[in-house]
Amino acid sequence: MIKKLPDDVIKKISAGEVIENPASCVRELIENSLDAGAKHIKVSIWGGGIDIIEVEDDGIGMFSEDIPLAVQRFTTSKISSFDDLKHLKTLGFRGEALYAIAQVSNLTIVSSTSDDVLSGWECIFNAGELTSSKPAPRKKGTTVVVKDLFFNLPVRRKFLLSKKEEGKWVFEELISYALWHTKVYFEFYEDGSKKLDLPPGDFAQRIISIFGKEFLERAILLNYSDDYLSIKGFVEKPEMVDQKGREQIILVNGRRVRGDQLRKIIYKAYEKPYGQPDFIIKVEVEPEFVDFNIHPQKREVKVAPYIRLTEKLYKVLYSSFRQYSREIVDSIKVQTDSLSSAKVSEQYGGTRQLEFGEVFQTLTVKNVSKESQTDILNIWQAHKSYIFVQTSNGIMIIDQHAAHERIIYEKLRNRDFSSQLLMFPILIELSVKEKAIFDIYAEFFNSFGFEYRFLGSNSLVIDRVPAVFRNVKKEDIKDLIASLEETPSLPDRLENFLKTIACKSAIKFGDELSKEEMAKLVDELMASDAPFYCPHGRPTIYFISLEELASKFER
Ligand code: ADP
Ligand code: MG
Repeated sequence: MIKKLPDDVIKKISAGEVIENPASCVRELIENSLDAGAKHIKVSIWGGGIDIIEVEDDGIGMFSEDIPLAVQRFTTSKISSFDDLKHLKTLGFRGEALYAIAQVSNLTIVSSTSDDVLSGWECIFNAGELTSSKPAPRKKGTTVVVKDLFFNLPVRRKFLLSKKEEGKWVFEELISYALWHTKVYFEFYEDGSKKLDLPPGDFAQRIISIFGKEFLERAILLNYSDDYLSIKGFVEKPEMVDQKGREQIILVNGRRVRGDQLRKIIYKAYEKPYGQPDFIIKVEVEPEFVDFNIHPQKREVKVAPYIRLTEKLYKVLYSSFRQYSREIVDSIKVQTDSLSSAKVSEQYGGTRQLEFGEVFQTLTVKNVSKESQTDILNIWQAHKSYIFVQTSNGIMIIDQHAAHERIIYEKLRNRDFSSQLLMFPILIELSVKEKAIFDIYAEFFNSFGFEYRFLGSNSLVIDRVPAVFRNVKKEDIKDLIASLEETPSLPDRLENFLKTIACKSAIKFGDELSKEEMAKLVDELMASDAPFYCPHGRPTIYFISLEELASKFER
């Protein structure tokens, strides 16, 4: 038999959809305070917000007779017609939040619309029923106190996390608003102790007060805007990215979004397999192009596709990373410029007479450094494996193999290579399985500059290879064929193929390099799209700043 649910059950169920935990409660209350024009918002929670949530603001307040109205369903002061919806600047408008919170808690609202404390009014609700309404001292603004969340909804309550965890989510919610509304004073108290004190400031100051100044030291600034949107943010310097993503925050029009789409684009721009970058990014789009109400907890956002948010975000990241690599190149070049001939002779001749060979060397060195950006005076190889480069503010150590892999990989990817005729063609006996794989992917080989023929059914002769491929051996070709077998998807396979060529043809550990070769390698590396990792995601560059050195030597 089908029965209609009793009204009070329906009310509770739908309330549970809007309010799922203390954090969503805090979100709604903060949004109301912001909509009321608050300049100072104080959030306090006890027991992770399960016991008590209190949000106090200095906004416009409510008239005494409006308080019970605000707690009714679909009551709002923010829109009165459907047309208003399109031009909405406020955060809330569904008129559901206070209603939903009231249904599942003991709610107290104290509010006043003027600074005359005697004009304050207090209403108390028990599971949505008004139980008390009386004058209460309050200067202009509103205090909302939510006690015993879900006390009458045991199923929901059971699904809450520990008080500590719920408190953490409240914190996350609060910082999202604090990062956006930097001119609003935010305070946060947990179980009576102050956790955050955020006086009005700018975006960078907010980040420092919340995450510490290390976050900014590790970050690159993003700053982009056009007619439709702006993207501002701080993203981790590519070379600092490791496998722990501590802060990954994307705010769109003031709301934290948790969808995967934007995150994926950011990862793509970093090009570091397994890397977990930190980022705090704020995107602002004209409100008419954004829809949050596709999700009951407003956690997803839909941005009109013609705004091309993802594409723009990718471009901004890409160009900021390129700009950053250019700065590093400059920090190497600065060395050349500042190294006037006077300085060179001082360095070489200050304490002793110049040997003829040294004079010759300084002269030739100077000539070469004109062509190459990297100054080869300041470049050394250690253990035939690592390249040391002096930059204006420290030392850069480069893994020569990983760096070269990156360079070759990108050349292949950009089809920026020629093909070379092998003086001694390579003859390979393929197994039946290898032959089968080769036949399927012969196109890969063709398109990357290989030329081959078969002698009999399984004897493969390679006549030409891409010019990046140095000292090709039989095993390299076998490995290349094997690389095509491992991964499931076609694009991954192609990528694997390129990575394998890059790995096989790159300079190895143990290869001795001349200064010119090293300078060229550094230049090419820094001009690549993702200079900080090899195609497998391992770092290519390690920086040591002068400050780090100074602190190591306790200077
Ligand atoms: P909505 O925000 O969607 O309008 P709510 O249920 O969150 O719905 O709030 C209902 C109404 O209560 C708001 O439209 C507003 O008029 C009033 N209100 C709620 N919180 C505050 C506050 N902190 N200060 C002033 N008015 C408030
Ligand atoms: Mg609201």
